[in-house]
Amino acid sequence: RRLPRLGLTSQILLALVLGLACGAVLHYAVPAGAVRDDVLIGGVFYLVGQGFIRLMQMLVVPLVFCSIVCGAAAIDTKTLGSVGLKTLLLYLLTTAVAISLALGVGNLINPGEGVDLSSLAAPPDSADAAPLDEAATANTMDTLLNIIPSNPVAALAQGDMLPLIFFALFVGIVLARLGRRVETVHSFFVQFNDIMMEMTSLVMKVAPVGVFCLLARTFANVGFEAFLPMVKYMGGVLAALVLQLGVTYMVLLWVFARMSPLMFLRKFFSVAAFGFSTATSNATIPLNIETLEKKMGVDRRISSFTIPLGATINMDGTAIMQGVAVVFTAQLFGVPLGPAEYATVIATATLASIGTAGVPSVGLITLSMVFDAVGLPLEGIALIMGIDRILDMCRTAVNITGDAVVTSIVAKQAGRVDMAVFRDPDAGREVD
Ligand code: ASP
Repeated sequence: RRLPRLGLTSQILLALVLGLACGAVLHYAVPAGAVRDDVLIGGVFYLVGQGFIRLMQMLVVPLVFCSIVCGAAAIDTKTLGSVGLKTLLLYLLTTAVAISLALGVGNLINPGEGVDLSSLAAPPDSADAAPLDEAATANTMDTLLNIIPSNPVAALAQGDMLPLIFFALFVGIVLARLGRRVETVHSFFVQFNDIMMEMTSLVMKVAPVGVFCLLARTFANVGFEAFLPMVKYMGGVLAALVLQLGVTYMVLLWVFARMSPLMFLRKFFSVAAFGFSTATSNATIPLNIETLEKKMGVDRRISSFTIPLGATINMDGTAIMQGVAVVFTAQLFGVPLGPAEYATVIATATLASIGTAGVPSVGLITLSMVFDAVGLPLEGIALIMGIDRILDMCRTAVNITGDAVVTSIVAKQAGRVDMAVFRDPDAGREVD
């Protein structure tokens, strides 16, 4: 008889539990020896776990590059008037607030304190270490100058994110300007973007195996000491998400648009629930636009531009996860973070949010770019990965709420919200 097929989320959760159990058994019940230490922990688990991390790293540069080129190319220059500019600024602002909030919550909760995993980090290879040292010594002027790549191919090859994003934005904007003349190249990028999305979901298919090996290795080495930090990390992310949703967005909505936060939440609930269950911002675009129009009276001419843009570049929930993850990993692996590092994290996580595509798990992939920027070991992602599915669902709900809040503010200020519809509690019932 066939066993019922488990979905990916359940598979990853199962791998998490099994990896934890297997690691604990190895730690507490199996005596040290060549089989336990060299064949399993240092051999199979290390190899498969690191292999999985590398698969994810492999996706970062092409994924971010294509996502930004396509995002920028989709903005038509006529719409990019004051509405476009305001939307962009608000998207950046809400993300920066989100990540600062996350760093604050992370430092309050101290999720990784008291446990030392520094011995588990893979030795840095020299090629990776070089740009970090350079970054540490470069002064502010040079840091600014370095945003413009003197050689874009080198920036791509080394995975230097800022110059890479700069070049990608430029390519996207020029693609949009030239329009039909460069249709072939435009569709090349759109299709390559599809390929990267498909690759991401294929890599995620082996995630259960990767998660199992990474967790088994960690818990075999440190036992249940690593468990409490994980729970604290999860609590930290959830707390920051709730603050962003309940305080930042609601205050912005009331202060800048005079729209009732309670009415907004009530009407938006079904969209957030859809985002939560699918964990993909992209899939919620149509429902988001429809709900904003029918239930809240937001003009579709605005939302049809701002919502897809937001689903591509505005990921406040993802930035929150990344902020807490940084504090968590830095504490676990004993990497000190000063004000300069925090500033770098705010900047890179905001950029990572732009480069995160609105599909499941991509936030975890772009997290490696934030870790790289402040010299954190990627092994930190291993612990987080096991519980990331649940957090992915929660942060996606926040991601799309952020898009809708900014859209409502921009539309209201442009006089494009029908407040009679917004105030009517029964408006747009047919959307549900
Ligand atoms: N799943 C998220 C979204 O679609 C992206 C991520 O953080 O992985 O918005």
